[in-house]
Parts: sequence; structure tokens; C-alpha cells
Amino acid sequence: MKNQYDVIVVGAGPGGSIAAKTAAKNGLDVLLIEKRQEIGDPVRCAEGIGKEGLKHHIEPDPKWICADVKGSRIYSPNETVVEMSEELSGGEVGYVLERKIFDRELVNQAASYGVDVMVKTRATGLISENGYVRGIKAIYLGEEYNFYSNIVIGADGVESKIGRWGGIDTSLKPSDIEVCAQYLIGNIDTDLNFCHFYLGNEIAPSGYIWVFPKGEKLANVGIGILGSRSGKYRAIDLLSDFVKQKFPEGKILELDVGGVPVSGTIDQTIADGLMLVGDAARQSDPITGGGLVNAMDAGEIAGNVAYEAISANDVSTKMLQRYESRWRKTIGQDIDNDLIVKNKFVEFTDEQLNTFAHSLQNVNFNTMNLKELLYVLFKANKRLLWDLRVLF
Ligand code: FAD
Repeated sequence: MKNQYDVIVVGAGPGGSIAAKTAAKNGLDVLLIEKRQEIGDPVRCAEGIGKEGLKHHIEPDPKWICADVKGSRIYSPNETVVEMSEELSGGEVGYVLERKIFDRELVNQAASYGVDVMVKTRATGLISENGYVRGIKAIYLGEEYNFYSNIVIGADGVESKIGRWGGIDTSLKPSDIEVCAQYLIGNIDTDLNFCHFYLGNEIAPSGYIWVFPKGEKLANVGIGILGSRSGKYRAIDLLSDFVKQKFPEGKILELDVGGVPVSGTIDQTIADGLMLVGDAARQSDPITGGGLVNAMDAGEIAGNVAYEAISANDVSTKMLQRYESRWRKTIGQDIDNDLIVKNKFVEFTDEQLNTFAHSLQNVNFNTMNLKELLYVLFKANKRLLWDLRVLF
């Protein structure tokens, strides 16, 4: 078995696949490993994605699109509805994906550029030499192997160990993580044109419930609540209550649980010979928990920087700083701003949410994104605007 590469990418989620593809496109010899036996399965995602961010990385394909969403409806605790739609604004909105197929397609695209892919291969440690990461230890089908490389890219998701093994502090406090539970529910009435978000401290403390259509009579119905509030409430119980009330005839076809980092940016995502991307680097959006586009964007930057660093025969932290500064200037800026908004959002009472929703009923929006709604909301409210003045 070949054991020497230019780049090893750990984790074949969207961040890892795009990193591997980009590095290989630049001519590097790349290994992509994935601990699961099937790429993308089980799914831990509501599968919503904005069209613009997606299209930068891959041409949309009906094979992995379940719904072409025209807008969102946001429900305040007293069910005042704020609607944001393509029709109102003329802008494009988003898709609900079939990630099991989407993730596999991303890996397949990486493979088409020559990336070697190994599934059922779990990274168990890093190989270091003179302080530099020089490869990984892994287990494949019960056997231990060493794989060597000039650079390792850790794209191993929210439960990432690569960062910690490489001396990068990726630790999360309970208040830095949204605890999520999601059902795929059949036998329910769905409107394929809309994603729905339900807000309220009783139904989803410091979080929200989503209903994303996945096809005729099928939807992802999930909840995210802040970890620091999950001692008193269990996400799965709150979700079950909601489902019983809203979809009494619904049939649960799948259950997923998972966490989303909402910490905002961490201090460092690189070490000598090592870069972290996506959820492993805590690059998901603190308001929505969405991390697909950020992971892919960061993966692309990391793949390009890997090429530059290896070409210059310098994989030091100083050189890899290029990755750090590029992602911070782009997605990092949004993450930092959204953290400020999130910290305000989690303080809202139900009464405030109702008042805000009421005041926004006749406003036109051009996005499916909860985050955009919050920005509009803050702009419409003088006191909030003052609290968040650094953003505007
Ligand atoms: P992942 O997609 O998590 O991929 C990491 C991969 O690494 C996994 O395949 C894992 O098996 C593998 N791995 C881990 N450890 C190892 C190891 N030691 N060796 C080898 N392989 C390993 N984002 C959105 O944009 N839209 C949404 O609607 C949305 N909904 C969500 C709903 C829920 C319930 C949750 C939990 C998350 C949601 N997210 C959403 C977030 C989104 O899923 C992540 O941000 C995104 O998947 C991050 O991509 P990634 O490539 O960084 O990591």
C-alpha cells in the first residue's frame, strides 16, 4: 500500500473533499481518508444551503437536490410569520440537499483529479518529526498503518481530534455548541418551496426548530439548543413535543443527533505541517449553525495554500499563516460579526421576538437565511442597532 503523499486530508465531509480536490487540481499527490464505511452516512445535517455559496464549488445536480427552495418562513413564539422569498426580491435562495449523495459526489470529483480515497480508515494519531506534523497513524480494517506527507489537513468535523493532537486548542465550552436532534419525517404535508424556522424560548431555548422539505410528504425536522441550556432541557424531548403537536400523523424515518460549533473563530487553526478546516476549525456560523459553505470555502483556501507551501518547500506555521489570514479575511469576518448577533439573539425574551416579528411582517427579504433576518431586525430596532453598532 502506498504510504507517502504530498498532502493527507482526514475526513471526507465537504471541507475535506474540497481541500483534497483543490490540492490535487494544483498537481499535488493527495490521500483522503474517511473513518466511515460510506461517505456522508449517517447524515448529521438539515441539508440547507444557499445557492450562491454552493455554486462556487459545484454545479447543482438534480441527483442530490431534494428541494429548490424559494424562501423561508420564520415563526415567532406567538406564530407571527415573517416571510422571506425569492419572489419578493428577485434573488436566488437555496436548496435542500441529499447529503448522502452530495458528499459522495464531492469525493468523486476529488477522485477524478487523482486523489486516493480510503474509507473505513480512521486516523488515530499524528506522526511528528522535529515539531512538524509529518503524517498520520491510521487503522484500516483492523490493521495499523503509517501514512507520511508534507502537510496534513484536519477536516474531521465537530469531534475533531486532529487539532488537539497537533497542539491546537479547539476545545468548546457548553455555551460554544448547539446541541442538535433531527428527525426525517414522512407522511406530512410539506411545501417544497419553503424552509420554516420556529423561534421561542419554550420550544427551543437559545436556538430554533427547523422544518426543511426533502420531497413530497418528507421533511427534515430538527432542533438546535445551546449546550449551556441543555442540562434543563433535552433537545430530543423538545423536538418530540413539537412534532407531536405539529405533525401528529408524521412517521419518523430517521433520527440524527449531533453538535454544531457556535463559538466564533478560534485563535489558531494551523501548526507546523498542519491546517484545520470546517467544523474541525470551528468555522460554522454562530447564528444558524450552518457550516457547509464555510467548510468548502476553507477547504479550497487550504488546498491552495498546501500547494504554495509545498512548492516553496516550507510548511512552517509562518508559511501556513497564508491560510489563516485568507480565511479570516473572508469567512472569518462573517463568523465574528455573527457571533455578536448570536450573543444578542440568545438574550431575547419571547415577547421581544413577537414584537420584532410583528414589526417585520411587511419587509421584503431576499434570502432563506435566518441570519439575514436578524440583521434586518436589528437595523429596524434603534436600541438593538446601538448595541450592535460595530456591525453596521
Ligand atoms: P463533516 O461534514 O462533519 O465531515 C467530517 C468527516 O470526518 C466525517 O465524515 C467524519 O466521519 C470524518 N472523521 C472524523 N474523525 C475522523 C478520523 N479520526 N479519521 C477519519 N475520518 C474522520 N450546515 C449547513 O450549512 N446547513 C444546514 O442545514 C445544517 N444543518 C445541520 C443540522 C445538524 C443537526 C447538524 C449537527 C449540523 C448542521 N449543519 C448544517 C452543519 C454542517 O453539517 C457542518 O458544518 C458540515 O458538515 C461541516 O463540514 P466538514 O467537512 O467540516 O465536517
